[in-house]
This record gives sequence, C-alpha cells and structure tokens, in this order.
Amino acid sequence: MSTSVIKLLPDHIANQIAAGEVVQRPASVVKELLENSVDAGAIQITLLIEDAGKSLIKVIDNGCGISETDIRLAFERHATSKIRKAEDLFAITTMGFRGEALASIAAVSQVECVSKTPDSSTGTRLVIEGGKVKEQLPEASMTGTSIAVKNLFFNIPARRNFLKSDSVELRHIYEEFIRIALAHPDKRLKLVNNGTEIYNLLPGTHKQRIISIFGNKMADNLLQIREQTTVITISGFLTMPSVAKKIKGEQYFFINKRFVKNSYLHHAIMAAYEGLLQPETYPSYFVFIDIDPAEIDVNIHPTKTEIKFRDDRTVYHLLKAAARKTLGINAVSQPMDFD
Ligand code: ADP
Ligand code: MG
Repeated sequence: MSTSVIKLLPDHIANQIAAGEVVQRPASVVKELLENSVDAGAIQITLLIEDAGKSLIKVIDNGCGISETDIRLAFERHATSKIRKAEDLFAITTMGFRGEALASIAAVSQVECVSKTPDSSTGTRLVIEGGKVKEQLPEASMTGTSIAVKNLFFNIPARRNFLKSDSVELRHIYEEFIRIALAHPDKRLKLVNNGTEIYNLLPGTHKQRIISIFGNKMADNLLQIREQTTVITISGFLTMPSVAKKIKGEQYFFINKRFVKNSYLHHAIMAAYEGLLQPETYPSYFVFIDIDPAEIDVNIHPTKTEIKFRDDRTVYHLLKAAARKTLGINAVSQPMDFD
C-alpha cells in the first residue's frame, strides 16, 4: 500500500495563501474594513492610520456589531452573514459576500477586534495573531465594531519588504477612503493619519461630498448628469471641458455604490467629450450608476473592482447619450458635434 502524499493544508496556511489575493497592501485592508462597516449599516466610521498602515490600521464604526457567538466565526474563511445560497450571488446588495476578508487579514497580521451588538449589555474582545486566536474576553464597549490591524505581514517578511514607501502606501489608503466616501455621502467619515486629522466629512449630498474632498474650486465646474430607465439610473457630475487637466483627472464610476474600474464605460464618457477637450487633457467625473443587481456580476475578482454587465452595450449608449446631453446643454460655447 502506498502512503498518501497529498495533504489538506491546515486552515491558517490556506488562509495565508488566500490572503495573497485579497490583501496586497495596507490599502486593501482599509478597503475591506471600510466595506464591512458600510455593510454593518454604520453611519459613522473612523479610520486611524499609523506609519502608512504598516504598523496600524484601525476602523471604528457604529454599525450592528458582532455578537459574542459570532465573533470567532467572522474570522473564519467562507464565513459570512451576507449570502446563504448560490442564488444570492445574483442579488448582491452588500459590498462583501465572499466571507474571506477578515480571515485573510487575520492570517497576515495581529488583529484586535472589539464589538458589541445593540441587544447585548457588554461587548467582546478577540485577539488573533497570524490566524490563531490568542484571547477572547468580555469587554465594555459601545455598540458597533472596532478592528485594529497591527503589523501587517509581520509573519511574511518577504511581503512586508515589498511594501512601497510610506507616501506611496498612504496615497493608496487615501484613495480607498475617498472611493468609499464618494459612494456614501450620507455617512460621517473621518481619517486620522499619525494623529493628524486628514478628513472629517459630514453627511451631505454627493455634490457636497465631492467638494469637501476635492476643494471649493470644484464647485463651479461640476455639471450634473442624469438619466433613468426602468432598470438603470445614472446620476452624478462631469467637469466642464474647459477645466480638464493635463494629468488624468479624478475619474470615478460607482455601480450600486461600489467603486469600479471599467474602461468601456470610461470610453463612453470620453466619447461624449469628443471635440470639446484641448489635446492631452482629461476631464474629471463622478458617475453613480444604480442598476438591478441581477443585471451585473460582481463575483469576477476577489477585490470586486471589476464587474460585468449583462448588457454593457446598452449601458454604454445610455451613458454616452446622458453625458452628451450634460455637455451639450452646459458647454454651448465649445465646439460641438452631435451624431
Ligand atoms: P464578508 O464581508 O464577505 O461577509 P468578511 O470576512 O469581510 O466577509 O466578514 C465576515 C463577517 O463578519 C461578515 O459577514 C459580518 O457578518 C461580520 N463583520 C465583519 N465586519 C463587521 C463590522 N464592522 N460590523 C459588523 N459585522 C461585521
Ligand atoms: Mg467583507
């Protein structure tokens, strides 16, 4: 009889491998934690960063909290409260659903989570290091969750050495924060870096949120875009062609409040600007698309920044026409070429 050479990997090793997909850098942790706070229904979220996230990333929210019974499970792979059956994948209304972020993060860092649900009188503290639970104790706390991720990649020196300079890592962190902030102008969001408050964003409209992030000078340059059909709503702002920048502008698409990268839709917007821009200049845009979740597939990449439309041609043409209308009405002094 031959002995088996194939072995199932222990969970903490499997998690460490899986972590490579979800957790590339401190900004990935920021994205996952902020998304969890959004999914938890928090209306106030604070992000604390130290050493560009290399020593600390902490997110504090006032969402639904995690119960004492669930708290360990939250850090297991494929453990999620957001979907239960395969069909749910076609009706995703939450940012998360794969149940792998917390397990991945905990596999490659030292995590301290304190959480309390509204119907419990006391909270729970859970400490995990490299995927292994170190302690779980009751702890008095407010309703909501705070998750501190310390010393990312402490147990994978090769990954830690690959991190870029603090300024580069910080730029990625700010970008993730801004994406969440733009998608959720109704929430109060704070970002503190090494003790210095960088953003303290009050709840407001999309326009107010854009201005509070990108500055007052943006206010006069925003042109509203709006289009609605039975399955899709397009809203948001494009910037005037005259203020297009030499560097690639701030260009944001959100599909059902999720920031996505989509070169096809980007092309639709750029096509609408055709003939209006000085050579080598780029407009900024903030476009929010709300669509029936059955019309899209978000489960094509672990970080979910890419999505697939069931019918992307229709979305393309609708977006281009809406952008044309916006620019046509508001850019009358510019040369125009409608087809
Ligand atoms: P997913 O978001 O895909 O469900 P995660 O690993 O990010 O997977 O989180 C696992 C589970 O932990 C979530 O489904 C949720 O029930 C719980 N959870 C995580 N973060 C929070 C939070 N900030 N507030 C309340 N519950 C949370
Ligand atoms: Mg999640």
